[in-house]
Amino acid sequence: MKNIAILGSTGSIGLSTLAIVRTHPEKFSVKVLAARRNAQKLFEQASEFHPDFVCLYEPEGAEELKRKLRPLGIKVLTGTEGLLAASRYRPVEEVVFALVGAVGLLPIFEAIRAGKAVAIANKEPLVVAGDLVIKESRKHKVPIFPIDSEHSALWQCLEGRSPESIKKLILTSSGGPFHKRKGSFRSIKLSQALKHPKWKMGPKITIDSATLMNKGLEVIEASHLFQMPAHKIEVLVHREAIIHGMIEFVDGSHLAHLGITDMRLPIQYALSYPDRLMNHLPTLDFVQLHRLHFEKPDVRRFPCLELGYEASRVGRSMPAVLNAANEVAVGRFLENKINFLGIPKLIEKVMKRHQVIQNPCLEDLLQADEWARKEAEKL
Ligand code: MG
Repeated sequence: MKNIAILGSTGSIGLSTLAIVRTHPEKFSVKVLAARRNAQKLFEQASEFHPDFVCLYEPEGAEELKRKLRPLGIKVLTGTEGLLAASRYRPVEEVVFALVGAVGLLPIFEAIRAGKAVAIANKEPLVVAGDLVIKESRKHKVPIFPIDSEHSALWQCLEGRSPESIKKLILTSSGGPFHKRKGSFRSIKLSQALKHPKWKMGPKITIDSATLMNKGLEVIEASHLFQMPAHKIEVLVHREAIIHGMIEFVDGSHLAHLGITDMRLPIQYALSYPDRLMNHLPTLDFVQLHRLHFEKPDVRRFPCLELGYEASRVGRSMPAVLNAANEVAVGRFLENKINFLGIPKLIEKVMKRHQVIQNPCLEDLLQADEWARKEAEKL
């Protein structure tokens, strides 16, 4: 039995994680659940999974939740202190991080220092502070399990391989909803951008997939997780989204990871590693698949991908700036305040104005994040 904490339990990754726990009640026990603001959902989850305590990050609704959970003997914490308590809670062996935004940063370091295995679903920790996260995880000898599907795929391909044997990593991209769009991107409507052809995800990451910023962030993520420079990480558009990641060896042979597009697969592996567990998910039917297609991404039409590479090459505080400016830009797009083309334009402007900080500590990175947000709002 593995004791787990789930930070971000009411989002799509959190729900899928709980679905896996529901399928394997003899394998996993939920000790802590944390959510940003959905008190009702958190109450339902707590009633079903009986954690020792829950954290509602935003304090509104916490009093009522406390009252409702008191008969079950489940405590309610709030804010960053609540997330930190969840991350270091002694009985927990593995923490699943699925919090959207920068709020997940401090809790990850807390979990690593407390010796917990860390399963990372959200991109921010590795994008913003990848160098520090990897350094800290090595110092405390704790494993980091990627949940992002492409990185889970690469992780599975890379297991047991020597770094010298790897020529490059290949991240696949479904291309998003506008891969085949004819004509201008200016007139793209919010509702169109929110329709992803392959994956069902939250709104922020769905927009990131439409701009290909998601893939740009994934290049940065992969560079940290697998200690590879950006120029050895290639992005390939693969509409069918059957192959999630590939590695090319120095001898020219390839190894690919294939699977259905369902986040429960990478989440389950991050929970069960190194074992594999039976489940009831559908499997690939190769005869039905018939054929697979691959194309180069069009960086002219999707400048966000190139911005991701640029931030990865520059490194230091630049990826934090890219990430923060992107969050503001996507937020404004979701509010219909800027158009689709405004997203990369805004990010590029903020990146150009940034003075890169050498050897940044976490405090520097958080300051760079804040600076980039203010700058983006101003612009
Ligand atoms: Mg992904």
